[in-house]
Amino acid sequence: MHFYSTRDPQHKCNIDEALVNGIAPDGGLYLPSDFPNVYDTLSESISSFQSISKAILTPFLEGYFSTNEIDEIIDQSFFFDVPVIELTSDLMVAELFHGPTLAFKDFGGQFMAATLSRILKKKNKRATILVATSGDTGGAVAQGFFQKENTNVVILYPKGKVSELQELQLTTFGGNIKALCVEGTFDDCQRLVKTAFADKELSEKLSLSSANSINIGRLLPQMTYYAYVSHHYFLENKNPIDIVVPSGNFGNITAALFVKKMGFPIGKLIAATNANDVVPNYFSTGVYTPSSSVRTLSNAMDVGAPSNMERILSLYGNDLAAIKNDFESLSVSDEQTKSTMQAIYKTHGYIADPHTAVGIFVAQNRNSQQPIIVMSTAHPAKFKDDVEQILDTTLDLPTQLSKLLKKEVLKEMTKNDYQQLKSLLLGEF
Ligand SMILES: *Cc1c(COP(=O)(O)O)cnc(C)c1O
Repeated sequence: MHFYSTRDPQHKCNIDEALVNGIAPDGGLYLPSDFPNVYDTLSESISSFQSISKAILTPFLEGYFSTNEIDEIIDQSFFFDVPVIELTSDLMVAELFHGPTLAFKDFGGQFMAATLSRILKKKNKRATILVATSGDTGGAVAQGFFQKENTNVVILYPKGKVSELQELQLTTFGGNIKALCVEGTFDDCQRLVKTAFADKELSEKLSLSSANSINIGRLLPQMTYYAYVSHHYFLENKNPIDIVVPSGNFGNITAALFVKKMGFPIGKLIAATNANDVVPNYFSTGVYTPSSSVRTLSNAMDVGAPSNMERILSLYGNDLAAIKNDFESLSVSDEQTKSTMQAIYKTHGYIADPHTAVGIFVAQNRNSQQPIIVMSTAHPAKFKDDVEQILDTTLDLPTQLSKLLKKEVLKEMTKNDYQQLKSLLLGEF
């Protein structure tokens, strides 16, 4: 197994280099060279989350990590449940939000920290993980890397544009985690990060590494729950299951595609987007035109140029007909999102966050009666104000969030100015 760049299949590297680099030197994204059929060799006795995770991840990790290390990485990364809730016998919700920051990004945050800190220790190197966040990524990365040896983390987030709870999830660690509040937008934060990576002096001095979903280390751990859910559904129902994924950068659904390629019984993959409808438009018109993003209720999916489409297009050789054999994609408005949240609450007593509701709307409104599972990407309490207002109810804060309210906020302000960021980072590390 090796990893290659979407822009040049001749550029190859091993898992350690792919994780540390984040992005290939030519600007492409890393893809695994093989998708071995793990499903056919899976014995019936393998059914726990841990054992399925081990089966599906081992082919990617075994070239570099020992069996012992793989066991440790899995134990450290996947220590929370993935309950599957039946709303009806044909409509299920897989809750991916029971980790420490209450969003599915904990799978990636924990796994990246467990793997990268081990790799850096073996290489006797220190690295600085630099990330821009619009909300959920920063918290999950901070939580994963807090007190991990050989790592510093710098998180850039836009002033006034993340929720109060999300800001607390970034700014209450201290230690090796540094939160920088940028006087600008999320796009400005992303541009600053890109400029830093392109700056040879800085990136070499600090050994910069990324933890955004361009890093293959974010996608591999997200394979685990697709393998787990599809395997269990097939054991009980003897049918493959269709899956809806609320999508922004399309990293989560790319992980589902990997699992399907490894033989697991997955039917259609359906990408549910909000008003940021670049991919649904591409599926219906055949023309792919990335644009700038628009703000919606499901703001973690406000992406105008989904980075992982480069991986999907590459895996299918840009053949739209072949892509449409496996995928569907539909866009959902904020009005539809709200009315879905209200209807699901009224009919089933189930509180879905806005991202999950986008997925549920698509599950209920596509042209098929096949049973379907919606991936629930965040806990509703993360979006407390919106959810309470839409459902006219009050939500309790889970302890993961309520304990943050008592902590001290540690952040530094910075202008939307690269030179200021650079001297701040050089002075710090
Ligand atoms: C990040 C995020 C998404 C989008 O995931 P992608 O992998 O970018 O498609 C959806 N929902 C929530 C709550 C998120 O935080």
